[in-house]
Amino acid sequence: MSGQVYSLCSPGQGLSCFACCPPIRPPGYDHAAHRGSLTRLLSENTAAIKRGELPQGEMTGYWCPGLGFLDSRGHRVGCLLHPALNQGQDRRGPTGYREKCARESCAPARAFAALSPGAQSVLIDLCAGMDSFTFSSPTHNPVMRLLAFGPTVAGAVAGLGPASLEELRAWSWLDEIEPARGWLLGQAQAVWGGEALRDPGLAGRIADLHQRVAAGLGPAPPHDAGEPLAALCDEWQARYWRAASGRRRARPAEVERWKVLVQAVLRD
Ligand code: SF4
Repeated sequence: MSGQVYSLCSPGQGLSCFACCPPIRPPGYDHAAHRGSLTRLLSENTAAIKRGELPQGEMTGYWCPGLGFLDSRGHRVGCLLHPALNQGQDRRGPTGYREKCARESCAPARAFAALSPGAQSVLIDLCAGMDSFTFSSPTHNPVMRLLAFGPTVAGAVAGLGPASLEELRAWSWLDEIEPARGWLLGQAQAVWGGEALRDPGLAGRIADLHQRVAAGLGPAPPHDAGEPLAALCDEWQARYWRAASGRRRARPAEVERWKVLVQAVLRD
């Protein structure tokens, strides 16, 4: 792929994501499961906004009346009221979501932003030709599932240069390992080598590793003391420690001990 990749939301190559539109959906909700009804709504809404009809009143539910088709063939879905499409004028006010939309971010997008341009291109090239329903969908797009594991794992996979989307789809660990264990997986592949990501038994190896690490952390204290984990390490590592320890806070020395523990278990 040539050219600069800007963000996972709109990374070029005719791709766009609308998974977080509107930003009030429950976990696990996937637009792709409602493609038929949403396609009708998107067509009607695109025509209404073209006629200059803006949404009336604040909206609730899983549908945002700012959404529409960005191209004439109905391939790309996005916000028709966004300033990027309206000569800098932000027309999202009537949806009631403007501030929330502006703040919205997701783990895959943050992981993607942390990748090198070369790694971004490898992953985006795998998505070539997807329409927005497919590109946005963690069910249908294994690249979205991969990015949820964080930038270390996604970067390592990009470094392996998977030949096709089909190869990625065949990696069952993308479904079997909790994304919250992405930091641990990143540590493991650094020791085991990137080819471990092609191992059909990888999910079992990570489950075993996680069990041994969690056992070594010991019981959580009755009162969560220390600093927020997010202040002591990056978001991917903090996410793993929260899942493994059940704690939201720790002392810096504890986190250091936990990291040494992971390396010791990996060497074992
Ligand atoms: S779900 Fe993530 S990648 Fe998709 S539009 Fe929202 S922030 Fe961007």
